[in-house]
Amino acid sequence: MNTYGLATIVKNEEITAGIWKMELAASEIAHTAEPGQFIMLYPLDKRNLLARPTSLSAISEKSVTIVYRIAGKGTKQFSQLQKNDSIRIMGPLGNGFTLPDQATKSIVVGGGLGIPPLLELSNRNSKSCCFWWADAISLINTLRGMKVDIHKRKPVLANRIGGYSGPGIMPVALRMVYEVCHSVDVPVIGMGGISIYEDDNTFIFASLRTAGD
Ligand SMILES: Cc1cc2nc3c(=O)[nH]c(=O)nc-3n(C[C@H](O)[C@H](O)[C@H](O)COP(=O)(O)OP(=O)(O)OC[C@H]3O[C@@H](n4cnc5c(N)ncnc54)[C@H](O)[C@@H]3O)c2cc1C
Repeated sequence: MNTYGLATIVKNEEITAGIWKMELAASEIAHTAEPGQFIMLYPLDKRNLLARPTSLSAISEKSVTIVYRIAGKGTKQFSQLQKNDSIRIMGPLGNGFTLPDQATKSIVVGGGLGIPPLLELSNRNSKSCCFWWADAISLINTLRGMKVDIHKRKPVLANRIGGYSGPGIMPVALRMVYEVCHSVDVPVIGMGGISIYEDDNTFIFASLRTAGD
Protein backbone atom coordinates (compact mmCIF):
# COMPACT_ATOMS: atom_id res chain seq x y z
CA MET A 1 0.00 0.00 0.00
CA ASN A 2 1.19 3.45 -0.83
CA THR A 3 1.33 5.92 2.08
CA TYR A 4 1.44 9.70 2.17
CA GLY A 5 2.50 11.57 5.30
CA LEU A 6 5.19 13.14 7.42
CA ALA A 7 8.41 11.26 8.09
CA THR A 8 10.98 12.19 10.73
CA ILE A 9 14.65 12.48 9.81
CA VAL A 10 16.74 9.97 11.75
CA LYS A 11 20.03 10.88 10.08
CA ASN A 12 21.05 13.10 7.15
CA GLU A 13 24.73 13.22 6.34
CA GLU A 14 27.02 14.02 3.41
CA ILE A 15 28.83 10.76 2.60
CA THR A 16 30.99 12.21 -0.19
CA ALA A 17 31.09 15.56 -2.01
CA GLY A 18 27.52 16.43 -3.03
CA ILE A 19 26.11 12.99 -2.18
CA TRP A 20 23.92 12.64 0.89
CA LYS A 21 22.44 9.74 2.79
CA MET A 22 19.17 10.23 4.67
CA GLU A 23 17.43 7.81 6.98
CA LEU A 24 13.73 8.48 7.55
CA ALA A 25 11.50 7.00 10.24
CA ALA A 26 8.62 5.74 8.13
CA SER A 27 7.45 2.38 9.46
CA GLU A 28 4.37 2.08 7.23
CA ILE A 29 6.46 2.50 4.09
CA ALA A 30 9.22 0.29 5.49
CA HIS A 31 6.72 -2.55 6.09
CA THR A 32 5.60 -2.76 2.49
CA ALA A 33 8.62 -1.50 0.53
CA GLU A 34 10.60 -3.80 -1.75
CA PRO A 35 14.11 -3.33 -3.16
CA GLY A 36 14.03 -1.22 -6.32
CA GLN A 37 11.06 0.88 -5.23
CA PHE A 38 11.26 4.62 -4.67
CA ILE A 39 9.60 7.33 -2.57
CA MET A 40 8.59 10.89 -3.42
CA LEU A 41 9.95 13.64 -1.16
CA TYR A 42 8.27 17.05 -1.09
CA PRO A 43 10.62 20.07 -0.99
CA LEU A 44 10.14 22.27 2.06
CA ASP A 45 9.75 25.41 -0.01
CA LYS A 46 6.18 25.17 -1.33
CA ARG A 47 7.18 27.11 -4.46
CA ASN A 48 8.86 23.85 -5.54
CA LEU A 49 5.57 22.10 -6.12
CA LEU A 50 6.68 18.76 -7.43
CA ALA A 51 7.85 15.93 -5.20
CA ARG A 52 11.28 14.49 -6.01
CA PRO A 53 11.55 10.73 -6.66
CA THR A 54 14.40 8.93 -4.85
CA SER A 55 15.14 5.21 -4.72
CA LEU A 56 15.26 3.27 -1.47
CA SER A 57 18.75 2.06 -0.71
CA ALA A 58 17.96 0.38 2.61
CA ILE A 59 14.74 -0.80 4.21
CA SER A 60 14.66 -1.71 7.88
CA GLU A 61 11.82 -2.48 10.25
CA LYS A 62 10.92 1.12 11.01
CA SER A 63 12.92 3.25 8.60
CA VAL A 64 13.99 3.67 5.01
CA THR A 65 17.25 5.13 3.73
CA ILE A 66 17.90 7.06 0.54
CA VAL A 67 21.12 8.25 -1.09
CA TYR A 68 20.76 11.39 -3.16
CA ARG A 69 22.88 13.80 -5.17
CA ILE A 70 22.33 17.54 -4.87
CA ALA A 71 21.04 18.24 -8.37
CA GLY A 72 18.95 21.38 -7.91
CA LYS A 73 16.71 23.28 -5.52
CA GLY A 74 14.77 20.35 -4.05
CA THR A 75 17.71 18.13 -3.18
CA LYS A 76 19.58 21.19 -1.82
CA GLN A 77 16.70 21.71 0.62
CA PHE A 78 16.76 18.03 1.60
CA SER A 79 20.44 18.36 2.51
CA GLN A 80 19.58 21.12 5.01
CA LEU A 81 17.27 18.88 7.03
CA GLN A 82 18.46 17.97 10.51
CA LYS A 83 17.76 15.05 12.80
CA ASN A 84 14.14 15.14 14.10
CA ASP A 85 12.98 17.51 11.32
CA SER A 86 9.98 16.34 9.32
CA ILE A 87 9.40 15.98 5.60
CA ARG A 88 6.37 15.01 3.55
CA ILE A 89 6.87 11.80 1.64
CA MET A 90 4.82 9.35 -0.39
CA GLY A 91 5.55 5.74 -1.22
CA PRO A 92 6.60 3.12 -1.80
CA LEU A 93 6.18 3.50 -5.56
CA GLY A 94 7.33 1.56 -8.58
CA ASN A 95 7.43 -2.15 -9.28
CA GLY A 96 10.68 -3.00 -7.52
CA PHE A 97 13.16 -5.62 -8.66
CA THR A 98 12.42 -9.27 -9.24
CA LEU A 99 14.19 -10.95 -6.33
CA PRO A 100 16.57 -13.74 -7.32
CA ASP A 101 16.03 -17.22 -5.92
CA GLN A 102 17.80 -17.52 -2.53
CA ALA A 103 19.78 -20.48 -3.78
CA THR A 104 21.08 -18.57 -6.80
CA LYS A 105 24.46 -16.92 -6.68
CA SER A 106 24.12 -13.48 -8.20
CA ILE A 107 26.38 -10.54 -8.90
CA VAL A 108 24.70 -7.16 -8.90
CA VAL A 109 26.49 -4.52 -10.93
CA GLY A 110 25.71 -0.81 -11.04
CA GLY A 111 27.29 2.58 -11.44
CA GLY A 112 26.91 6.02 -9.85
CA LEU A 113 23.58 6.66 -8.16
CA GLY A 114 22.25 3.46 -9.68
CA ILE A 115 24.16 1.63 -6.96
CA PRO A 116 22.23 2.60 -3.78
CA PRO A 117 19.02 0.73 -4.73
CA LEU A 118 21.10 -2.36 -5.47
CA LEU A 119 22.37 -2.49 -1.88
CA GLU A 120 18.98 -3.52 -0.48
CA LEU A 121 18.59 -6.03 -3.29
CA SER A 122 21.97 -7.48 -2.40
CA ASN A 123 21.03 -7.59 1.31
CA ARG A 124 18.01 -9.74 0.54
CA ASN A 125 20.10 -12.51 -0.94
CA SER A 126 22.90 -13.93 1.20
CA LYS A 127 24.52 -15.41 -1.88
CA SER A 128 24.76 -12.17 -3.79
CA CYS A 129 27.38 -9.47 -3.77
CA CYS A 130 27.21 -5.95 -5.12
CA PHE A 131 29.88 -4.33 -7.30
CA TRP A 132 30.35 -0.91 -8.72
CA TRP A 133 32.91 0.32 -11.17
CA ALA A 134 36.28 1.39 -9.83
CA ASP A 135 39.47 2.35 -11.66
CA ALA A 136 41.59 0.94 -8.84
CA ILE A 137 41.21 -0.48 -5.35
CA SER A 138 43.39 0.30 -2.34
CA LEU A 139 43.39 -1.88 0.74
CA ILE A 140 43.62 -2.15 3.68
CA ASN A 141 45.69 0.60 5.35
CA THR A 142 44.26 -0.01 8.86
CA LEU A 143 41.71 -2.18 10.58
CA ARG A 144 39.15 -0.74 12.93
CA GLY A 145 40.39 -1.27 16.45
CA MET A 146 39.91 -0.18 20.02
CA LYS A 147 42.18 0.29 23.03
CA VAL A 148 41.13 0.63 26.65
CA ASP A 149 43.13 2.25 29.46
CA ILE A 150 42.21 -0.21 32.15
CA HIS A 151 43.59 2.02 34.94
CA LYS A 152 41.41 4.94 33.89
CA ARG A 153 38.67 2.51 32.86
CA LYS A 154 37.97 4.27 29.62
CA PRO A 155 38.78 3.97 25.93
CA VAL A 156 42.09 5.57 24.89
CA LEU A 157 40.72 7.05 21.66
CA ALA A 158 38.29 9.95 21.89
CA ASN A 159 36.13 8.25 19.24
CA ARG A 160 36.49 4.89 21.03
CA ILE A 161 37.18 3.11 17.74
CA GLY A 162 39.94 4.06 15.32
CA GLY A 163 42.39 2.78 12.71
CA TYR A 164 44.84 0.13 13.98
CA SER A 165 48.01 -0.48 11.98
CA GLY A 166 51.44 -2.06 12.49
CA PRO A 167 53.10 -5.37 11.57
CA GLY A 168 50.35 -7.37 13.29
CA ILE A 169 47.80 -6.53 10.60
CA MET A 170 50.05 -7.41 7.66
CA PRO A 171 48.94 -11.07 7.30
CA VAL A 172 45.33 -9.84 7.15
CA ALA A 173 46.25 -7.19 4.55
CA LEU A 174 48.13 -9.77 2.50
CA ARG A 175 45.24 -12.20 2.54
CA MET A 176 42.86 -9.48 1.37
CA VAL A 177 45.20 -8.23 -1.37
CA TYR A 178 45.66 -11.84 -2.53
CA GLU A 179 41.91 -12.52 -2.63
CA VAL A 180 40.99 -9.25 -4.31
CA CYS A 181 43.78 -9.54 -6.92
CA HIS A 182 42.37 -12.93 -7.84
CA SER A 183 38.84 -11.57 -8.17
CA VAL A 184 39.13 -8.28 -10.06
CA ASP A 185 41.04 -6.95 -13.04
CA VAL A 186 41.63 -3.37 -11.86
CA PRO A 187 44.95 -2.32 -10.26
CA VAL A 188 45.15 -3.07 -6.54
CA ILE A 189 47.25 -0.93 -4.19
CA GLY A 190 48.30 -3.06 -1.22
CA MET A 191 49.10 -1.34 2.07
CA GLY A 192 48.80 -1.96 5.77
CA GLY A 193 51.37 -3.12 8.30
CA ILE A 194 54.44 -2.62 6.09
CA SER A 195 57.51 -2.01 8.28
CA ILE A 196 60.50 -3.34 6.33
CA TYR A 197 61.30 -3.37 2.60
CA GLU A 198 60.69 -7.12 2.27
CA ASP A 199 57.07 -6.43 3.17
CA ASP A 200 56.61 -4.46 -0.07
CA ASN A 201 57.86 -7.44 -2.04
CA THR A 202 55.54 -9.74 -0.11
CA PHE A 203 52.58 -7.62 -1.23
CA ILE A 204 53.81 -7.80 -4.82
CA PHE A 205 54.09 -11.58 -4.49
CA ALA A 206 50.55 -11.85 -3.09
CA SER A 207 49.24 -9.80 -6.01
CA LEU A 208 50.67 -12.16 -8.63
CA ARG A 209 47.95 -14.24 -10.20
CA THR A 210 50.27 -17.24 -9.92
CA ALA A 211 51.11 -16.62 -6.24
CA GLY A 212 51.14 -19.85 -4.31
CA ASP A 213 50.18 -22.00 -7.33
C1 LIG B 1 12.40 6.71 -10.18
C2 LIG B 1 13.51 7.68 -9.86
C3 LIG B 1 14.41 7.38 -8.86
C4 LIG B 1 15.45 8.26 -8.56
N1 LIG B 1 16.32 7.93 -7.58
C5 LIG B 1 17.32 8.77 -7.27
C6 LIG B 1 18.24 8.44 -6.23
O1 LIG B 1 18.16 7.37 -5.60
N2 LIG B 1 19.21 9.35 -5.94
C7 LIG B 1 19.31 10.54 -6.63
O2 LIG B 1 20.22 11.32 -6.32
N3 LIG B 1 18.47 10.87 -7.62
C8 LIG B 1 17.47 10.01 -7.95
N4 LIG B 1 16.60 10.38 -8.93
C9 LIG B 1 16.77 11.69 -9.57
C10 LIG B 1 16.15 12.77 -8.66
O3 LIG B 1 14.76 12.58 -8.60
C11 LIG B 1 16.45 14.15 -9.19
O4 LIG B 1 17.84 14.38 -9.16
C12 LIG B 1 15.77 15.21 -8.33
O5 LIG B 1 14.37 15.13 -8.51
C13 LIG B 1 16.26 16.58 -8.69
O6 LIG B 1 15.50 17.50 -7.94
P1 LIG B 1 16.05 18.93 -7.58
O7 LIG B 1 14.93 19.73 -7.07
O8 LIG B 1 17.25 18.84 -6.71
O9 LIG B 1 16.56 19.46 -8.96
P2 LIG B 1 15.77 20.43 -9.95
O10 LIG B 1 15.79 21.81 -9.40
O11 LIG B 1 14.46 19.84 -10.29
O12 LIG B 1 16.78 20.37 -11.16
C14 LIG B 1 17.01 19.13 -11.86
C15 LIG B 1 18.00 19.40 -12.97
O13 LIG B 1 17.46 20.36 -13.88
C16 LIG B 1 18.33 21.48 -13.97
N5 LIG B 1 17.49 22.69 -14.04
C17 LIG B 1 16.63 23.13 -13.10
N6 LIG B 1 16.03 24.26 -13.52
C18 LIG B 1 16.54 24.55 -14.74
C19 LIG B 1 16.32 25.57 -15.68
N7 LIG B 1 15.46 26.57 -15.46
N8 LIG B 1 17.01 25.53 -16.82
C20 LIG B 1 17.88 24.55 -17.09
N9 LIG B 1 18.14 23.54 -16.23
C21 LIG B 1 17.47 23.54 -15.07
C22 LIG B 1 19.16 21.46 -12.70
O14 LIG B 1 20.42 22.08 -12.87
C23 LIG B 1 19.33 19.98 -12.45
O15 LIG B 1 20.40 19.42 -13.20
C24 LIG B 1 15.58 9.49 -9.28
C25 LIG B 1 14.66 9.80 -10.27
C26 LIG B 1 13.64 8.91 -10.57
C27 LIG B 1 12.67 9.25 -11.65
